[in-house]
Formats: sequence, structure tokens, C-alpha cells
Amino acid sequence: MNIAIVGAGIMGRTLALVLANTHFNVVLYEKNSFHRPNNCSAVAAGMLSPYAESLLCLPSLVAIGLAAIEAWRAQIKTLPTPVFFDDTGTLCVAHREERSALHRLQEVLLQHSGAYQVIDHVQDLEPEIDTNLHAGMFLPQEAQISAQMLMHSLGEALIAQGVRIFANYPIKQLKRHDYDWIVDCRGLGAKTHLQGLRGVRGELLHLHAPNVNIKHVVRILNPHYPIYLIPRPNHRYILGATCIEAQDSSPLSVRSALELLSYAYSVHKGFAEARILKTFSHCRPAFDSNLPKIMVNESLGVIHINGLFRHGYLFAPVFANAVMQFLGETSWHELVTPFVTWEDNVNAPSFRFAT
Ligand SMILES: Cc1cc2nc3c(=O)[nH]c(=O)nc-3n(C[C@H](O)[C@H](O)[C@H](O)COP(=O)(O)OP(=O)(O)OC[C@H]3O[C@@H](n4cnc5c(N)ncnc54)[C@H](O)[C@@H]3O)c2cc1C
Repeated sequence: MNIAIVGAGIMGRTLALVLANTHFNVVLYEKNSFHRPNNCSAVAAGMLSPYAESLLCLPSLVAIGLAAIEAWRAQIKTLPTPVFFDDTGTLCVAHREERSALHRLQEVLLQHSGAYQVIDHVQDLEPEIDTNLHAGMFLPQEAQISAQMLMHSLGEALIAQGVRIFANYPIKQLKRHDYDWIVDCRGLGAKTHLQGLRGVRGELLHLHAPNVNIKHVVRILNPHYPIYLIPRPNHRYILGATCIEAQDSSPLSVRSALELLSYAYSVHKGFAEARILKTFSHCRPAFDSNLPKIMVNESLGVIHINGLFRHGYLFAPVFANAVMQFLGETSWHELVTPFVTWEDNVNAPSFRFAT
């Protein structure tokens, strides 16, 4: 079967590799650079936090996210270059005045036995955390992955598999009869075609903090948006990420930098002497519901996968396997059926392909 995939973000790359490994003929088109991606996927923090994120999303995110963690754990062993992966869990904390957010998370997680442990003294787990913070919750099954190493390694694997890759090649239309199916993974590039798709700005910083020894992902709950500190080897930390209703990828704002860095400092005073290595901002593709969609147009032979919002790394491997199953067996895996919609109107105002 001949498959065209449009867009080489995390969704397009993951799908291309799953299909190529299953002997589909895959062609991958990318508007910009393939080797130096400048897309939403390339700036992501790589948190795999199905429990903590279920507060913002659907409970079914938990099952998908846990499946994704297993999928990445297995997949990185097969990739040609190393990918940093850590599954030591997430420590959620909140300042006294923002403690209600912890209670809300606990209420949501009550239905998932074993998902969390209430912690009276977070210093038992992370001795260096400031004593202003003491109550917390530990989510032992959560993980994190280096998005940048994964994007790179998936790219290398696609090349090694012989997938035909057309980079710097913006697609306006494809000849339908050249392919059995076309899968549109354009993220915000599909905004003018997919109704309700919007950009949600996210900003983050990469820090080097030699005076800080934090081993677990720390998530600081607050009423606005969750802030996280992600430890990486050699005292590197990722601090993020804002969640602002604006399609704006301009550089990190002073307001956001102050807010994020103040939270980091409140967790550990050693961040005062940290160095800011890099800052990033990009827009997450999201639908009104903040839930992703897999839109199937059988008449046109097009599948749109979009709206991955804050969860591209949590959804991509599960969606990719589900698309592979659909193409082979014309049935969708039960985990993804809540996200599948059918669009059989040949004149659908979606991605136009020449016939
Ligand atoms: C600051 C920040 C932090 C984040 N942290 C996390 C996290 O910790 N965990 C997590 O799971 N998610 C995270 N996300 C969300 C995640 O990055 C997104 O959900 C994900 O990147 C979406 O992937 P995608 O492949 O759908 O889109 P994209 O990454 O946007 O890829 C789409 C690709 O399509 C290409 N394209 C567009 N139009 C065309 C065209 N006409 N022809 C050819 N190619 C085209 C684009 O150039 C692009 O390369 C974060 C996002 C941000 C901004």
C-alpha cells in the first residue's frame, strides 16, 4: 500500500516509521527542514504525564498515555541513536495558597488505584526542595523523554528504513491516485482547512543549575497552568511551560520568564545561580475541546490527525499504531475510537488534493 504523510512533526515521523516497519511504502513530505526541525514537536519538553494531565483533559488520556510510555520504552531500544528516557515518576507540589490544585488532582486520580501516593514531606523524596513546600503527591508511573533526541533518532530510523523524504517541500495538493491513503499531520499548517483548529502559545527555558540536585520531574500546581521542572543529566533542567491563548511564536516574554523563574526559585534557591542556556516558544495545535481528532475521509482517501495540544508525545505512538491497524484491517483500536470522526463529504472543506 502506498501512503503519503504530510508533516514531519512527532505525529508524522512516528506514523511513518510504524508504517515503514510494517512494509507500507511511505513518502513523507515536510514543509521545512527535516534535519533541523523548527516545529512544535522540536521544542516540546517531552513529559509523559498521563495522570497529571488528565486534570486538564479526558480520563481516557490515562490509558492512552500509559500505553504510549510502554511504546516509547520499547521503541527507543530499536532506534539508531540514543534517546534519553526516564521513568522515575513525577512529584506534584503546590504552595500553601494554591493547595486546592493538589486536592483537585487527587479527586481526579481517586478512580485510578495505584496511580499516586500522598506525600506529607516532599523532602523525603527530594531533600533539596525548599521547606516552604511540604505536601505533595507522587505519580510513580509517569515518565519523560528527550523530544529533541527522539525527533532526531526517528529521523535517522526513517532514513535507514529507506522512507522517501521530501524536505523543504510545502504540500498544497497531492495527486490522489498516486496513493492509497494520504495522512495529514500538518499541525497548525492545517489551520485554514480544519475548522476550529487554533494555536496555544507555550514557552520554556533550558537551564544549567550546578547548585541544584533534583532527580524527579517536579510539577508545581497552581490555578493558572501547571509549571514543571524537568531534570536532565549534568544539572540541566527544562522549566516550562506557559499555556497562553494566542497564536504567537515570538520569543519568550519578560512576564513569562519572571513567572516561570520565580516558581523555579521557590522550589530551590539554587536556581538563582543557574544559567539560562536557551529559551523556546511555539504554538500547540489544539481544537476547541483541547482533545485531538482523527478525521477520516474515505472518499478522498485522507486521514487528518491533529489537535494534539499538550500531548503530542503521549498520543503519537498510540495513534500511529491505530492508523496502521486501520489501514490493514479497516477497524480502529478501542483506545482511539473516541477520537475518530468520519467525514464522507467529497467536497469537505478539508485538505484539497488534485484528482
Ligand atoms: C512549549 C511546549 C512544550 C510542550 N511539551 C510537551 C510535553 O512535555 N509532552 C507532550 O506530549 N507534548 C508537549 N507539547 C505538545 C507537542 O509538542 C505537540 O502536541 C506536538 O508537537 C504536535 O505534533 P504534530 O506532529 O501534530 O505537529 P507539529 O510538530 O507542528 O508538526 C507538523 C509539521 O507539519 C509541517 N507542515 C505544515 N504544513 C505543511 C505542508 N503544507 N506541507 C508539508 N509539511 C507541512 C510543519 O512544518 C511541521 O513540521 C509541547 C508543546 C510546546 C509548544
